[in-house]
Amino acid sequence: MRAIWDNLKGLYSLLVGMKITILFLFSPRKTVHYPRKVVERENLENYRGPLELTRGKEDAGKTPCVSCQLCVKACPGNCLTVVKSKEGKNPQTWLYDFSYCCLCGACVETCPTGALAFSHRVYMVTKTREELVLDLLKDLKERTEKKEEPNKGLKNKS
Ligand code: SF4
Ligand code: SF4
Repeated sequence: MRAIWDNLKGLYSLLVGMKITILFLFSPRKTVHYPRKVVERENLENYRGPLELTRGKEDAGKTPCVSCQLCVKACPGNCLTVVKSKEGKNPQTWLYDFSYCCLCGACVETCPTGALAFSHRVYMVTKTREELVLDLLKDLKERTEKKEEPNKGLKNKS
């Protein structure tokens, strides 16, 4: 009698598992067959890629960063280096070590000027660890020159 009961329980558990498998089999796919297909930009709304500097409202090529160091202090991974320029508040150096970043978002949340956002860079590949130290001012300049669309991803609350 006990063996029959155990078999019935096993069968029930198998059916529950199969139900989930069958439901996922017929639901829309959430992954893409890379490199034949790539993830569309509209599906990256909440994706957290490596950080990037947002663009200034008046000058798109200029960061709204005022070198206040709040993000540097908030970062648990010690990933950020911001050096203020001698001329004004804007930074002269903005380095981000992606190899230590856990994408927690503390820096994005802390920034008072909304200067930081998660990028939508999905296919970033490097051969060395040194290449993961990103110069975000250089990156901003390159994106501005290429007239890349601004990131609409997770941003500071302000
Ligand atoms: S996302 Fe988190 S770990 Fe990454 S740089 Fe920002 S605060 Fe540091
Ligand atoms: S918190 Fe914002 S404004 Fe302050 S240094 Fe970091 S990016 Fe710049």
